[in-house]
Amino acid sequence: MAKEIKEITIAISGNPNSGKTTIFNNLTGLRQHVGNYPGVTVEKKTGVIKYKGYRINVVDLPGTYSLTAYSLEEIVARNFIVNEKPDVVIDVVDSSNLERNLYLAVQLMELNTPLILAFNMADIVKKSGKKIDINLLSELFGAPIVETVGSRGLGSDKLLEAIVRAVSSRKEKKVEVKYGEEVENEIDRITLVLKKQKIPTFKFDIRWIAVKLLEQDREIIDKIKKGSGSKYLKVEETVGSSIDHLTSILRDSPEVIIADGRYGFIKGALLEAYKEVDSGKLDVSEKIDRVLTNRILGIPIFVLIIWLMFQFVFTLGKYPMGWIELGFEKLSALITEIVQQGLIRSLLVDGIIGGVGGVITFTPNIILLFFTIAVLEDSGYMARAAFVMDRIMHKIGLHGKSFIPLIIGFGCTVPAYMGSRILENRKDRLVTMHINTFMSCGARLPVYILFAGAFFPAIAGNVIFSIYLIGVLMAVTMARVLRATRFRGESEPFVMELPPYRIPTLKGILIHTWERTWMYIKKAGTVILAISILMWILFTFPMIGNNYSQNYNGQIEKFEQSYRSGEITEDELNEKAAVIEGKMAGERLTYSAAGRIGRFLEPVFRPLGFDWKMVVATISGIAAKEVVVSTMGTLYSIQEADGQSDSLKTALYNHYHPLVGYNFMLFTLLYFPCMAGMVIFRKEAGTKEMLFQIGYTFLLAWVMSFLVFQIGRLFI
Ligand code: GDP
Ligand code: MG
Repeated sequence: MAKEIKEITIAISGNPNSGKTTIFNNLTGLRQHVGNYPGVTVEKKTGVIKYKGYRINVVDLPGTYSLTAYSLEEIVARNFIVNEKPDVVIDVVDSSNLERNLYLAVQLMELNTPLILAFNMADIVKKSGKKIDINLLSELFGAPIVETVGSRGLGSDKLLEAIVRAVSSRKEKKVEVKYGEEVENEIDRITLVLKKQKIPTFKFDIRWIAVKLLEQDREIIDKIKKGSGSKYLKVEETVGSSIDHLTSILRDSPEVIIADGRYGFIKGALLEAYKEVDSGKLDVSEKIDRVLTNRILGIPIFVLIIWLMFQFVFTLGKYPMGWIELGFEKLSALITEIVQQGLIRSLLVDGIIGGVGGVITFTPNIILLFFTIAVLEDSGYMARAAFVMDRIMHKIGLHGKSFIPLIIGFGCTVPAYMGSRILENRKDRLVTMHINTFMSCGARLPVYILFAGAFFPAIAGNVIFSIYLIGVLMAVTMARVLRATRFRGESEPFVMELPPYRIPTLKGILIHTWERTWMYIKKAGTVILAISILMWILFTFPMIGNNYSQNYNGQIEKFEQSYRSGEITEDELNEKAAVIEGKMAGERLTYSAAGRIGRFLEPVFRPLGFDWKMVVATISGIAAKEVVVSTMGTLYSIQEADGQSDSLKTALYNHYHPLVGYNFMLFTLLYFPCMAGMVIFRKEAGTKEMLFQIGYTFLLAWVMSFLVFQIGRLFI
């Protein structure tokens, strides 16, 4: 009948006075042994329990608030956990003082040791009228939680059950505290150096070591130094520069920032898990949070702030945008003057300046957008905004944080893709990126203005609004579809770290803004340049030679003669010449590869009501959506066309049915934003996801436009 006895070791940790010893006594009864930890005068109490075929050795660790290396107790507790690797650590938490007590729990969590939280003092919590959502907290911390009342011996049996469950079915769920982009970047850097230099990490987790090095943990520094010899120099150098970098932009030592990060995690978790926050002593952050994350006020405040952000970005951005546009116009004019008429000039002016310039022109908006986002992030508000939107976003299978990039998408999809980075979970991030294109960006607006103005002049505003609305509905629908298919998986609850509010530093904001802007510009300079040239080639070759349908040059000469003989004024000449040049441009485009592709693909688009010109315009929209307008202009031989051009509107009105006009707007809304967007998409999510984005948005655009046209046709 001899049953195998399994021997396990558990350690009890916790803040002083959390009831550790009481719980220890409850568990072990009188079978205790008191000694010292080897080499130090810290008392070590051990005991043994027999339970359900287990022989459980229990060690009462010294009481600590933290696991830094500031006191002997902390070092002893930490080393015991790391070196002796107990099967389970029970953290006794004074649950009437969660915010402070959970600080240790977070650090135990970071040590990646199997953890059970004993929420002791449950009687005091009950009396105070607070209610804690234990299940939710348990999920957020990735550890079982058992409520106990040590002084009355309640909960010991549940604790034992939890221990047995933890050792028999170890299910690892790693929860990580994120310390914000800046710190995370430095952690990555240090981790990379540790790996590259093959620094021994003993039994520690490598990320944990990197964090400890940033915190300047004496113990770990000594250990690593001893273990790695001369190779340590490289590590020391990297850590040093990381600390300098962080200190200079965050104006606090990394140690403080990291501690703030842990408290931010706790705050975020508690804000979700407390059913009823205690009134009484609130600090400033908590008072502000009362208003900003209020169930009722939170959303209107958020909407107001976003509205202000857009006002700021687009009102202020108009000016530098105008200057840059003017600059490029001047540059084009200059090149037109010094470079002979011909291919080189066309490449420089139409291809490169047209393409790269179009992207650069948006830079002021992007800088301002990044600037405001950095202010909102660094002040701590962004985390609250995400918290407020969380409930709504969960309904479509996303997280509150997704809302921020989606809002940015109304401005420009490129920074929106980059903004999706705040989502740590890859699936959440990808779904957010894949639906972002439906948040109609600023560059699409000129297209809507042109088409709505041409076909529905009386109700243009409402028509444009309907397009935006369809975009939002499509985003919601596709989020659910993607969640149910390619990115399936329950969206796990995870903690929204709520850092304390702080006045952002100018330097920090400028660095954030610059880093993101630079990424954008770099793309304009390289890949987008290449694509612009490719587009130019498509729209230029093959060239028509002199075989125009009419003798255009002869016509211009005729007008020049009339001008010289005084029959017409110079203005009239220029006007007539422009009309003829417009016609020539139209024929050149028709003859070009793009024109041919348009006609070749026309059958594919016929069921949507599109003709080949619309196909060509759609292709040009790949470069940038606003280009659709000027391409339409060229195709209808109207020079200098913009969204307000009446002659272009008339031409469109005469050529297409309003249903087709509407359908074209719909198509423009739905297919992926532009080449700059795709370049960034690839960088953020990889080639496969970029191809998926291109494929599924095109398909969706086609199917939706098909349905609208085919169904609409029945009624007209
Ligand atoms: P330690 O410093 O963590 O070892 O804490 P102790 O076990 O010495 O407990 C500190 C005090 O808290 C003692 O007076 C205990 O009787 C009391 N205590 C322990 N658990 C509870 C509990 O669940 N509720 C209440 N009200 N008091 C408790
Ligand atoms: Mg004690």
